[in-house]
Amino acid sequence: MSTSTVVTAPVGGVPEPGQPFAYIRRVLVEPDWTRLPGWRDVRREQWESAQWQRANCVKNIRQLRAVMGNLVDDRLYLELDDDQHRFATMSMLLPPQMLNTMVPTAPPDTESFYADPIRRYMLPVASDRHPIWPSHPYATRDSLHEHDMWVAEGLTHRYPTKVLAELLSTCPQYCGHCTRMDLVGNSTPTVNKLKLTRKPVDRSDAMLDYLRIHTGVRDVVVSGGDVANIPWRNLEAFVMRLLAIEHIRDIRLATKALMGLPQHWLQPDVVGGLERVARTAACRGVNLAIHTHINHVNSLTPLVARAAHTALEVGVRDVRNQGVLMRGVNATAADLLDLCFGLQGEAGIVPYYFYLCDMIPNAEHWRVAVWQAQQLQHDILGYLPGYATPRIVCDVPFVGKRWVHMVTQYDRELGTSYWTKNYRTSLERDDSDALTRRYPYFDPIDTLPETGQRWWHACERSGARRRTDSAFIQ
Ligand code: SF4
Repeated sequence: MSTSTVVTAPVGGVPEPGQPFAYIRRVLVEPDWTRLPGWRDVRREQWESAQWQRANCVKNIRQLRAVMGNLVDDRLYLELDDDQHRFATMSMLLPPQMLNTMVPTAPPDTESFYADPIRRYMLPVASDRHPIWPSHPYATRDSLHEHDMWVAEGLTHRYPTKVLAELLSTCPQYCGHCTRMDLVGNSTPTVNKLKLTRKPVDRSDAMLDYLRIHTGVRDVVVSGGDVANIPWRNLEAFVMRLLAIEHIRDIRLATKALMGLPQHWLQPDVVGGLERVARTAACRGVNLAIHTHINHVNSLTPLVARAAHTALEVGVRDVRNQGVLMRGVNATAADLLDLCFGLQGEAGIVPYYFYLCDMIPNAEHWRVAVWQAQQLQHDILGYLPGYATPRIVCDVPFVGKRWVHMVTQYDRELGTSYWTKNYRTSLERDDSDALTRRYPYFDPIDTLPETGQRWWHACERSGARRRTDSAFIQ
């Protein structure tokens, strides 16, 4: 196991000899944006302005070319275009902050840009996708059935005491692997997105009405999309109304923008508003946290650390990271440990979860098998403080998050794992079998032994997949 390349500078310390992972403390460094031709003249005040970042997001190939100049050749742009027409489930949207963390230590060239871990999930190209199995046969839009579990528009009640409130369907950045590809972002040539139809104010009112009545719900994830795209005044009003509900004890604000657009979370009006909300939460004994989504240590820069530390300074109780485990991005123990040490040690962010990438269309090249995730969980234990050692979890359709070692049965040949649950979702209130049923999850087919791969090919060829469904539901 070797350490991965990181955009950080070592600050001394000699790793313990003979260990599989060599820990070296590194300080964070903001990559020099002027190495990219389109930003040669961008000044620090512009870079640190949220308005400048939003106005200069890269939304299409023409804008990407304008930033990159002649650093990468046409092959990459052609493949990007091909991917957007045939595979992409998310449209392109990259704040300069995120693009600047690709190939961070030198002007990129074609090969280094192709190989970059952040490029691989934020700007996927056609050759990244698996040539035979771009999608698993059981991949679906809304693979977690969040929409099916809406109890009001955008309000998913999946766990007994927790809800997810999707206040909007946009983000300041669009991730290629987005699990909410069904709803979030603009439609693409391959995905016509579901639309929120109610006015935001009516949607919020309906959510709050539901929460006031359901006194067993104590925990609300305020999400989207990304809450950084909600005008602060509106977000603050919603959170304050949540805080007025006596039985709500935990509130987490979900924002990848803490990393993708940290400038947003450093704006004086946002910091001031966050402080008001945090003070109210503290007075009422409510745990207010920010949950972010960082997948690689190269995304951690001083601006990201400053945004996280600022949130903590104004009274947010915790900033936690929920990353996604993806091949080609972070699926080695060294990548995960480098990221977690950077999060915990340099940015004040608690490494909390790594999710297996969900079974959405065209995601097979990113997904890892359950046994690989179990191995990674094994390999990262013992290095970080226990409270900062993330759990690797599989979000099993109709079940919810399960730690990867909780699998109850596992057919490695067909890559089918079976999981149980100890609560009912809102879909199964009257289902007497919900707690004894075994729910399937599927490994990527290219990770299976030859016999398993042949089995899936034979099913696909004969069109027999649907006839096998009953075999998987136990
Ligand atoms: S920030 Fe989250 S919701 Fe937005 S595109 Fe990325 S994964 Fe999806």
